[in-house]
Amino acid sequence: MRSMAAAKKTAPTKATTKATSKAATKATSKAAKTSVKKSATSVPARPVVARSNRRGPKSVHDASTPLILGIDIGGSGIKGAPVDLVEGVLATDRLRIETPQPSTPEACAAVVAQIVKNFEHMTGRRGPVGCTFPGVVWDGVTHTAANVDEGWLGADADALFEQATGREFTVINDAQAAVLAECHHGAGTGVDGMVLMITFGTGIGSGLAYRGVALPGVEMGHLRMHGVDAETLASANVKDTQKLSWKAWAERVNDYLWRVETILWPELIIIGGGVSEKADKFLPLLKSRAPIVPAKLVNGAGIVGAAIAAARQPNVRRR
Ligand code: BGC
Repeated sequence: MRSMAAAKKTAPTKATTKATSKAATKATSKAAKTSVKKSATSVPARPVVARSNRRGPKSVHDASTPLILGIDIGGSGIKGAPVDLVEGVLATDRLRIETPQPSTPEACAAVVAQIVKNFEHMTGRRGPVGCTFPGVVWDGVTHTAANVDEGWLGADADALFEQATGREFTVINDAQAAVLAECHHGAGTGVDGMVLMITFGTGIGSGLAYRGVALPGVEMGHLRMHGVDAETLASANVKDTQKLSWKAWAERVNDYLWRVETILWPELIIIGGGVSEKADKFLPLLKSRAPIVPAKLVNGAGIVGAAIAAARQPNVRRR
């Protein structure tokens, strides 16, 4: 755990490691193309079945559709599931494993490898994997670590996970992944203008999308509020630890949203994170200029968004 003041320190970029990893990726991109092709057909043939996802809409998964694994790294749990990208749903129940403490890059990579292995029978052994991280990620390198071990500062997450699993990884910020998923398959579909998603969990995440493109590096959870980081006053975690009523917490969230809307004019605000499952308890208490709605994919948004990001990589064959 570290304070944001420390996390704000920009970490070294590890240019050399990254360059090596990208060269390796390039060299294997031809092989990757072939392997994706293979994995698309190596998914065991199954009849069309209706599955009920514990945390998302029902999936009617046609076995001919390739599944891409999405993984969501959070401060308390690491969750993963194969994603049906046509429907934008989890193809089966997600697997959740407690985030190791301390949450060092190596310890998290071991959990990520466990999740990858667990779903090999559905995704094949070689397909690309998308993964979220709860901090700033540029080009697969993690630059802040507000709610995870500070060993992540400057870590080449793409390369680390690729080494641990032998699979090609695309790592992006968790809220960026969530807004991507919601704009393609959830509450933001069909919205023409700017969509802002705020996720309330261990921290406060923020994702900004315009016409289906989600931006990296949007860190509105760390806006100053009453002299401190907003997420130390208004995250869902704070609601739990301080045993705040919905009303008391909603007041803090309103204070926060007001600040956000002084600098951004989104057309729609989507509220995500675990709390969005209980939207009826607090959404009517929220005040904002833009219409405000709960996430549709609830806790599955990060996983779905990670899989969308992985499928968009240029060396992955698009269907
Ligand atoms: C991080 C964000 C992240 C959010 C939610 C914040 O502390 O800085 O990058 O999206 O927590 O996990």
